[in-house]
Amino acid sequence: MRTAIYPGSFDPPTYGHLDIIERASKLCDELIIGVLKNSAKTPLFSVEERVNMLKVTTRDIANVRVESFEGLTVDFAKQNGATIIVRGLRALTDFDYELQLSQINKTLCEDIETIFLSTNLKYSFLSSSTVKEVASYRADISGLVPPYIQELVEKKMKERQD
Ligand code: ADP
Repeated sequence: MRTAIYPGSFDPPTYGHLDIIERASKLCDELIIGVLKNSAKTPLFSVEERVNMLKVTTRDIANVRVESFEGLTVDFAKQNGATIIVRGLRALTDFDYELQLSQINKTLCEDIETIFLSTNLKYSFLSSSTVKEVASYRADISGLVPPYIQELVEKKMKERQD
């Protein structure tokens, strides 16, 4: 049984994340999406909301599970019997940070490997921050997130701006 985790903030999940999830799910028996609870930044969506958004948008992928976690990623991996951490790479700007992170994690736990999936070219510009920025100007985010997420982001932005 090969279990992988895909950790992140997912605030909110985008088509870029979903593309990585779909592809990573084919490389392992079980993929656990780990939604980080204690982000340094204040998230737009609560961890429960983010977990729920991911559950809804990945419900057709049989071997995907969504959990929240706090603390070290390697501890979350160990608790779930995972030996692989999946991360996505968009551009050179991700590389430095991601390399450092994977090396720290390797130092903390030698048995866990980080694997990187390169972004689908279509989504190389796409981040959760971009989605929030575009939505804050009430511009169209339909090409960036699934319709279910779009509705929730637009609702949240409206609540914030009213
Ligand atoms: P974090 O706060 O941990 O970076 P994110 O939710 O921003 O969490 O991203 C989680 C992972 O998904 C990271 O490895 C990030 O590089 C990757 N990712 C985010 N957007 C994309 C995208 N458009 N294409 C590929 N990978 C992506």
